[in-house]
Amino acid sequence: MAKYNGAVCKICRREEGKLFLKGDRCYSDKCSYDKREYAPGEHKGARRKLSEYGEQLREKQKLKRTYGLMERQFKKTYRNSEKMKGITGENLLSLLERRLDNAVYAFGFANSRKLARLLVAHGHFMINGKKVNIPSYVLKPGDEVIVRDKSRKCDIINISLESSLRKTRPGYLELDKDAYKGVIKNIPERDEIISTANEKLIVELYSK
Ligand code: SF4
Repeated sequence: MAKYNGAVCKICRREEGKLFLKGDRCYSDKCSYDKREYAPGEHKGARRKLSEYGEQLREKQKLKRTYGLMERQFKKTYRNSEKMKGITGENLLSLLERRLDNAVYAFGFANSRKLARLLVAHGHFMINGKKVNIPSYVLKPGDEVIVRDKSRKCDIINISLESSLRKTRPGYLELDKDAYKGVIKNIPERDEIISTANEKLIVELYSK
């Protein structure tokens, strides 16, 4: 699937939910989803009823877009989740949550996943003392994500960190703000993952 270059807020309206793609704007009264919950191109209340397949597809698109993945990356993550022990849908969410770019966002070092990916790719972070610049790197319990010394003066990181303190952080993450360090405490349980996704629909879709 081609990269989407249109207005980002339209994605939330299309997927009928806030995907938090635009940093602090998403938490402000400027959020266009809060102003207009109906889909782009539709009038209020004009949303079509979806088929079973349509609902499964929409759920997959919603999750994929929340984490900012292309189709191929998303499907690869799904296939990996199938190989793990446990419930495939929950494994999928766990793998997505433990991506380095998502963790950087969830710790608050970046105010959106898109920015987090950019910061990771530019080498601002270390994992357990080693520089890692791969956004898709999957973290495991005990891993420490640390902002590199030379990046601690970076305004984008400091401003994001300050504003993130007002937001809810998942319980499987621990942040030491003064040390610019975040730790993954455990593999996230489903109820620790802040997501409204219905992962069962995605499993049904890929099981066809
Ligand atoms: Fe979605 Fe954020 Fe735009 Fe609101 S401001 S519609 S949550 S991307």
